[in-house]
Amino acid sequence: MSQGVVQVEPLTTARALRGPFDYRRPDGAGVGSVLEVPFGRQRLTAVVTALAADSAHTLADPVRVLPDSLPPDLVDLGLWMAREYASTPARALSLLLPPRGARERVQLWAQRTEDGDAAIAAEAHLHASALRLTGKQGALLASLPRFAGEELASLRRLEARGLVAIGPRARRRAPAHVKLERRRAAPTLNPDQEAALAEILGAGAGEGLLLHGVTGSGKTEVYLRAAAETLRRGRSVLVLVPEIGLTPQMIGRFVGRFGDTVAVLHSKLGAGERYDEWRRLRSGEARVCVGPRSAVFAPMADLGLLVVDEEHDGSYKHEGDPRYDARWVAQRRAAVHGAVLVCGSATPRPESIHELRRVRLPRRVDGAGLPPVEIVDLKAARGPMHPQTFEALVDARKAIVLLNRRGWSNFLTCRSCGRVWQCPQCDVALVLHRHEGTVGCHHCGHREPIPESCPTCGSVSIARHGTGTERLEHELAGLGRPVLRLDADVRDAGRVLEAFARAPSAILVGTQVVAKGHDFPDVDLGVVLDADATLRFPDFRAEERTFALVTQLAGRAGRGGHGRVLVQTIDPSAPAIAFAARHDSDGFLAGELERRAALRYPPFSTLIRIVCAAEAPGAAFAAAAGIQARLPGALGPAPLFRLRGRERAQVVVKASDRRAAIDQVNAAVREVSGSKAHRGVAFGVDVDPQ
Ligand code: ADP
Ligand code: ZN
Ligand code: ZN
Repeated sequence: MSQGVVQVEPLTTARALRGPFDYRRPDGAGVGSVLEVPFGRQRLTAVVTALAADSAHTLADPVRVLPDSLPPDLVDLGLWMAREYASTPARALSLLLPPRGARERVQLWAQRTEDGDAAIAAEAHLHASALRLTGKQGALLASLPRFAGEELASLRRLEARGLVAIGPRARRRAPAHVKLERRRAAPTLNPDQEAALAEILGAGAGEGLLLHGVTGSGKTEVYLRAAAETLRRGRSVLVLVPEIGLTPQMIGRFVGRFGDTVAVLHSKLGAGERYDEWRRLRSGEARVCVGPRSAVFAPMADLGLLVVDEEHDGSYKHEGDPRYDARWVAQRRAAVHGAVLVCGSATPRPESIHELRRVRLPRRVDGAGLPPVEIVDLKAARGPMHPQTFEALVDARKAIVLLNRRGWSNFLTCRSCGRVWQCPQCDVALVLHRHEGTVGCHHCGHREPIPESCPTCGSVSIARHGTGTERLEHELAGLGRPVLRLDADVRDAGRVLEAFARAPSAILVGTQVVAKGHDFPDVDLGVVLDADATLRFPDFRAEERTFALVTQLAGRAGRGGHGRVLVQTIDPSAPAIAFAARHDSDGFLAGELERRAALRYPPFSTLIRIVCAAEAPGAAFAAAAGIQARLPGALGPAPLFRLRGRERAQVVVKASDRRAAIDQVNAAVREVSGSKAHRGVAFGVDVDPQ
């Protein structure tokens, strides 16, 4: 009687609870099926990860099989991610699930029957009189197939005469956020692009290439050509882009070139749109997918090409559990599918230089050089802006000013007693947001009204320290041209970018987002106001980030061949800044790899960070000490600042054997988190922390 056994992972967030669990196999269920199963007293969604002939357990029946299944290769990818990122299969698989809460929108679809076709042919041969079709009916019949819509009554009459067949059919809700660019003819590739394309098309199965090309060197055009050829070979294409709100141009170009076979997956889609796009990919109707990080899980069969554009971008790292990096997940998928991976950037990760074969696009398509970058020594300046920078802003027509700090000022102090306004939940200072009338925490979202007096001593003299983007916007308004601001406090980034693109003269002020992927033809000045802010960051990637930021901003300025960039710093000799000023990414990357080799940082080791957090005083530190004790050579425990009311402590592992280290960390976390002594402690594991 038995139809066999399904092994499932129930989707729960509990770390301790791990499958697979056996159930009786329902009709039609296979690897990737999504089930609802009885589990203790609950009913849980579960994913079938394997089939078996029989089981040593007493088997229960699943409640039901849910519509839509995952392709089996995505199930494998989920299980791989769980292990690779020291998470659980349940958490990893939850990220891959078919979208829920939406169904297909089914509408009536009308098409001609054979008699209907004959009738049209007869019409054309002027035998219409015999058919007694009115002109309107003839036109309606000729317009088929299509969705019935308002013509349903007329179509029903034709159906009654056997000329038309009407039945239900899914109708796509096309994403509204896609700006449909009109189909454009592809330009003729220049010799550099031809060479790059040939390398990509000739690459072996599973091979990864780094397309290292300055901004405006025509990387996107190379992706488009490689995608066209991949489609022609009958395989599908996945394109990852940094953040969708900021890269509508990229989506527009793919849709413009390939039309409806492009599906777009991103977080701004409504449930219905997302579902339809997912289904179109799953069924193979759409064979190109463009989207941000999470699109790396697009349910596509037979991938032939994966593109990761701006592969250095921080948004590819997922900050929830599992803390996956879409760039690496893409590499894994490429290997599994025997596809080619193309990572593109003007400022690639040192890891990529080390690990991927490099293809170069050394020149801009328009033949323009890169804008000169001048370093402005801030040591002698008073205030956040050097007079030289100010003058340049006065002279510029269109400028972008980057300041990596949002809000009005960084922190407030009492002038009489020295009190610092801090977040009650976190050990960080509150940031003033003047327009909003609040001081707020950038880590937990806590907000309170701007204080009028000091609660400690009663003084009304409160000092505001530092400058953020809001204050800068206000101060630059005196220059007599529109000042636009772009940072995480701005709701509609797209509108700001459009307004800036359209304005004949304006200043765009903002955090790092202003340096990302936008294509403004006429920016003649780029300013990095505080290059030291990123450089000071206590992280081995600080150099890499600073270099990328300055270089990317330079890429925004002077696209038409005019323009300059000013970088303010108190440390003009810092290599990241000096190399960026010379547009010398090879020099920077070589030095950076040397430094990392000497310090044994990635790619010469794998870093794993384990963060323990707990409310009870001392609990997080004790748990971190427990983990450190189980991982010989691990660094720590080191206290981190309190976040959301919880103390935190971390342990860092620097390993040469990645696989073994991940397994050891997994084991240590499982042991410590399972022990009664450390109840109430939350554990987060971050492999390849950013
Ligand atoms: P990147 O992605 O490297 O920044 P793009 O592919 O966006 O560069 O190219 C920059 C601009 O040059 C785009 O407007 C693109 O349409 C155009 N372009 C790219 N390749 C060519 C070419 N071979 N001939 C003419 N124009 C091109
Ligand atoms: Zn005071
Ligand atoms: Zn806080």
